[in-house]
Parts: sequence; structure tokens; C-alpha cells
Amino acid sequence: MLNKEALKDTMKKIIKIDYGKTLEKAKDHEKYVALSKSIMEQIVDRWIGTKETYEESKEAYYLSAEFLMGRALGNNLINLGIYEDVKELLNEMNIDINKVEEIEEDAGLGNGGLGRLAACFMDSAATCDVPLTGYGIRYSHGIFRQKIVDGFQVEKGDNWLKYGDPWSIRREENTVLVRFADQIVKAIPYDTPVIGYGTNNINTLRLWQCEPLVDFDFELFNEQKYDEAVRGKNKAQDISRVLYPNDSNDDGKILRLKQQYFFVSASLQDLIRKHKSLNRDLLDFAKYNSVQLNDTHPTVAIPEMMRLLVDDEELSWEDAWEVTRKTFAYTNHTILSEALEKWWNGYFKRILPRIYEIIEKIDEEFIRELKAKNYEKEKIAEMRIVRDDMIRMAHLAIHGTYATNGVAQLHTDILKETELNDWYKLYPERFQNKTNGITPRRWIRLCNKELSSLITELLGTEEWVKNLDLLKNLEKYANDEELLERFLSIKDEKKRELASYIKKNEGIEVDDKSIFDIQIKRLHEYKRQLLKAFYILDLYYRLKENPTMDINPRTFIFGAKAAPGYFRAKGIIKFINEIANLVNNDKEVNEKIKIIFVQNYRVSYAEKLFPAADVSEQISTAGKEASGTGNMKFMLNGTPTLGTYDGANVEIVAEAGEENNFIFGLRVEDIKEMKDSYDPKKYYEEIPALRRVVDTLIDGTFSDGGTGMFYELYTSLLEGASWHTADNYFIFADFNMYKDAQDEVDNAYKDRLEWAKKCWLNMANAGKFSSDRTILQYANEIWSVDQNPIK
Ligand SMILES: *Cc1c(COP(=O)(O)O)cnc(C)c1O
Repeated sequence: MLNKEALKDTMKKIIKIDYGKTLEKAKDHEKYVALSKSIMEQIVDRWIGTKETYEESKEAYYLSAEFLMGRALGNNLINLGIYEDVKELLNEMNIDINKVEEIEEDAGLGNGGLGRLAACFMDSAATCDVPLTGYGIRYSHGIFRQKIVDGFQVEKGDNWLKYGDPWSIRREENTVLVRFADQIVKAIPYDTPVIGYGTNNINTLRLWQCEPLVDFDFELFNEQKYDEAVRGKNKAQDISRVLYPNDSNDDGKILRLKQQYFFVSASLQDLIRKHKSLNRDLLDFAKYNSVQLNDTHPTVAIPEMMRLLVDDEELSWEDAWEVTRKTFAYTNHTILSEALEKWWNGYFKRILPRIYEIIEKIDEEFIRELKAKNYEKEKIAEMRIVRDDMIRMAHLAIHGTYATNGVAQLHTDILKETELNDWYKLYPERFQNKTNGITPRRWIRLCNKELSSLITELLGTEEWVKNLDLLKNLEKYANDEELLERFLSIKDEKKRELASYIKKNEGIEVDDKSIFDIQIKRLHEYKRQLLKAFYILDLYYRLKENPTMDINPRTFIFGAKAAPGYFRAKGIIKFINEIANLVNNDKEVNEKIKIIFVQNYRVSYAEKLFPAADVSEQISTAGKEASGTGNMKFMLNGTPTLGTYDGANVEIVAEAGEENNFIFGLRVEDIKEMKDSYDPKKYYEEIPALRRVVDTLIDGTFSDGGTGMFYELYTSLLEGASWHTADNYFIFADFNMYKDAQDEVDNAYKDRLEWAKKCWLNMANAGKFSSDRTILQYANEIWSVDQNPIK
């Protein structure tokens, strides 16, 4: 248990040593650092103990270019079980814990769902005593900070390390060298403890920072050539300088390739060094190590492992291939063709020539394997790894690993039956499903303490926080009116909190009694923020025509970042903000509807949004959203889904009941059937309401500030654009069905208790979506690692 006096003393000491002042004079960020470091002091022994325990048997490693961790302090206090004690202690010291929590910068080392999944997995593995270490890059700048100026997205640098990072420890002694054809750099690991909930285990997230071999060229400096003297240093630091803010395609190509190879090579060297230091035979490597590739970004691990084993460790090619293929497993996150990573082999030849030779050899052997199985020429050309001078990373990843998994049942089915069908036929035993999950610690226990207390009170124990299936026992209260009233009042409280946060951050007053209808996720055409925008604009016009229309007041909330080079996504942001401007300033309607686009949506903002939601918008084109995890966060906080039959939505309604959610629109089969004959113009012509809102893109209703964004959006819907057909994401075809579903929502909300029951049943059936379940499936069904609690 917490020794308050000791913690207080440590805090005071740190403030003296680090800042040369007394606690009373310390700034909020200094108090934050001092408190965090004091917590670090308390956990170091357990952290060391965990490492020693894990080394006795097999361990798993998660290689990911992204870890979207968010803030650490609050979560660590919750997981250590000392949040209330620390709050009290700070109170005694006249410090408001909320202020200290709010000063922490998010560790935004990821773009969206994929990076946040990695973060949830780290929390779950630690909580479940699963020996899992995360490996990634310590970007000095994470995902950009977003501002909205005149309705446009503006990107600012994210200097998350400006006050230092009290949660990481630099491990100089574990530095390794990474070699490119034109550059040798140092990879220096920073370790962050990952504290499990209700366990003594503390896992590790190891992020590599890139530094030069020498800080500066002394001779050049002496000759007063200052810029040249630090050129090598800058070039090295560039490698871990920024997270690429792309969800969907690859820019800054060579630098990005260097980033991938940098962290992969450093991680594998680290693993081999450790394996050898424990006196283990390299032929047994896969007996002690399983390495998960989070999407194709770390796939260069396969040829790099071959290089390390063959060139450095002098294993035969055959032995090395056996070890490599049994070590790695691959997670597929998308079937969007523009997101399937391909590399021009010219970059590899230039930067990583030996790696390229190895890839070519793997490809040649693969072709031989297919020929031996009597595959036809065309099929071989389709499946081989290098074709038309492009290296297809997904092919390398499936071929060079022992398991390939999708991230929700529907997604895995599509992979097996359509997208990767050739591969499924070749290696059926390698394909698995692992439906994504979210950690209940951050996504309810931390961000919704009020609802958590109610659950604990009803269940008589906090055990549900690490065994989320226990929520099922709450189903029996679904008709308990008194309880539902309490449940509703918690939702009201979270809505008031969000409203005041929005007032402070966006400067807009919202009606906290209105329906909070929320869509928060990266801005992408397939996620169809535009469908929601069209719906709202249509509703606005209907309200203007019929001012007495009887609807529940509604606040439509969006939060989304667009990749800086994704012109059309930025156009959609501007369009939403133009609609917001029109609606929010129209006195005739703004008692009934309002639109808020929150700036800089990120993990810490998400923690305020999910608990306050009445409606969860999950309206992607069927077949396009591999899983989604935002949908699960809403569900856990008692929010019905308004969504398509896509990704994990399918499993959510299977758990919570279709009658407690609002499912609409085309399904995967419908779209497959329509595919070639789809004519959006037909819908445009036959649905006047649709036509009216689409035309606002070009008829002068709104201004895009002369950027041409709106015209471009319009033509993409009606004419198609260079790289896709008209209305590629079936917004027009789903418009009326979405509208009907929205009407149903409005109707259902009128009966407050019936509504509360739906919310309650969603929450009570969210157990399946704990990432504890997901991580234990990875541990058992892919990695074969055992849960290993420390003594
Ligand atoms: C959960 C989460 C996501 C993923 O949301 P989806 O709706 O699944 O795309 C993205 N960003 C943040 C900050 C999140 O917390």
C-alpha cells in the first residue's frame, strides 16, 4: 500500500534536485514530473523482478511503428490501486489532482486505431501477466496538433517531450548500431514501465531513439563551419523525429523506410543479444521468442532476421529460414488497396542492398515452392513477393510467418474468401481471427469513475475491471427503473463535464440536455463523415421548412484529424465546419440542433467524449472498416451503435442485441452485387433531399475559400476521380437508409427508460471486447506463451 509520507518526501526532493525550488513554488508541470518520478521510484523493484521472471521461459514481442499511449499518470495510479490515496495526499498538499493530470501531454506516437490497439494490448498483457514487450520508435514529435482556423485544418508540431518524459528511462548500455548503405546510426532504447492492474507484474515498452555516432565534427566546427559540423547529427536525428501522419499511403518514402528498418533491426539485435546472453542456442530461438508484426510496417524484420542469422551468426540459409518463419506472426489491419504497403525495389537497392538480395532469394525460393505445387504462371506472378520492381510487403509477411490474423470475424472472413483467398488456399492452417478489444482500465475505470463505482457497487467487487465478462451479471437490472435513473444521471453528469470542456476548448455553448450524437475517428472517406454531414444539412433544411417539427434537441459532435496530404479529407472537414457555421448561427434552429467539430481529437479528449455519448456513429461502408475499436469504447460506456454491418459492429450487435442498436444500410454482399452497376447519379436524381444537400458543394451556399475543395468533392461523388469510381463509398445508396435509422434513434430516445435500457444492455454485454480476451487469445493461439505472475 501507499506510504504517503514517503511519496511526499520524494516529491519534495525531486522538486529541489530538478528545479531548485520548494514544492510551494513549483509549477503544475513540475508537480506532475515530481509525482510521476516518485511513482517510478516505487515500482522499480517489481519491474526488475518481472524481467527476471520472464527470462525463465518463452516471451512475446510486439513490433509496431505506432503506440498511441495517451497520458500515463492517471492510468498508472488506477492500475496501482492508489488513485484515491494520491488524490487525498495531493489535496492535503493543496494540489488538485485533475490539474496535474491535465498538464500531461499525450504520448501521441500513433495515428488512430492501429496505434491505440497496440497501447491497449500493452495494458492487457501486463494486467494478465503475459510476457509481452513492445518495440517501437521514440518519435520526438508524435501525431500533429490540430487547430481549426476558418473551418480549415491547420497542423502544428507536437512537442510532447518539452517537459521531459518522467515515465521513461534511457538505457545507454543497450545501445545498438544500425547500418544503412549511406549511414550508420546509434539506436538508444528508452524503456517505459507498463503497469498492470491488480498484479505485481510490470511489463516494458522499449522505444528506440536515433542518434549519430558522433555529436559533431570537431574539425569542421573549429573551421567555423557550424552547419556542416552538425549535418550528420541532424541526419541521424531525422530518423526518429516525426511520426508519419498517414493512415493510407506512404510519403517521405526513403525516410519512412529508414524508420521501419531502424526500429526493426535494433529490436532484433536486442533479442538475439539477450538470447545468446542466456546461453541459448540460436536454433532454439523460436522456442523462446515469438514476434508479432503489427501490420506490414515492421515486415522488413523477416529479411533482417535472415541477415542477422546468416551473415552475422553464420547459420545456414535453411536453418535461418526455419527459425525466422517460426518466430514471426503477422496481423493484417486493412484491405483498402491504397493502404497495402508496396515498396519500389530501387529504394531497397540504394539504402538496404543486402536486405534486397535476401528478399530476392526468398522470392526465388517461393516461386520454386509454387512451381513444385504446380501453380500456373499467372498465379505465381500474382502471388510472388517482387513484381514489376515493387516489393509487396503483405506477401512477404504472409509467406515469412507462421500465422496471419484478421482483426474481426467479418474482416478475417473477407481475407480468407476474397482478398487473400490465394494465400488462404496455399496456407490454410496459418489463418486465424483475433477480434480486437479495448482495455477496460482506461476506457471505463479511468475515464468514467462514476459508472465504474455503480458497477462495483452492484457486483460487490472490482473484479470486473480485470474480468469484464462479469458485466453480464448486470443484465438482470435492465428493468430496474430506480437503477436506470441512477445510470441516466451518471450519463447526464458526464455530458455536463464534456459540455464545459467543449465550452473551454472550442468556445461553444452546448445544450447538455440534448442528444450527444458523436462520430470520432480519423477522417477518411470510407468512414463516411460526409454521410453524417449530408444528413445534418438535410435535417437543417427540413427544420427550416417545418419549424415545429417535433424532434429531440441534438448536438452533433465530430472529432477527426485528416492526413496533411489528404486533400479530400480536408475538404470534408471544411464542409462540416461550414455547415456548423450556418446551423449554429441560425437562431431559428439552434435550440434544436448544433454541430461541434472538436479540435485536436486525441486519446485524452477521447476519454471525455466516450462516457458522454448518447449515440455512437459507426457508419463506414460495409467491408471497409476492418474492426474499429471506437465502437467498443462507446458500447462499454453504455452507448448504442448507429452503424452499418461492418467490422466489429457485427459482433457488437450479436452480443448486445440488434434491438438495442440501430443497424442500417448496404451489407458486404449487397455491395459486391452492385459493384459494377452502381450509378450514384440515379440516387442523386431520384432523391431531391439528397440532391439539395449535395448541390450545396457547388451552388454557392458555402465557400471553400477558393481552394476548389468543394468542387473536387462534388465531382468525386458524381463523376469519380482519377483513382476511383463515382461515390466510391456508396454514400448516396445509403443516404435514405441512414436517414430512416436516424429517425428511429430520435423516436427511441423519446422514451427515456426504454432508451436507458438499451444503453444498459450494451454496457452489460461489452465483456467480449476487453483486450484482455484478445491478448490471451494471441498468447494461447499464436505465441504459445504462458501467463507468468512474478512472486
Ligand atoms: C479508439 C481510438 C481510435 C480508433 O477509433 P475508430 O473509431 O475505431 O477508428 C482513434 N483515435 C483515438 C484517439 C482513439 O482513442
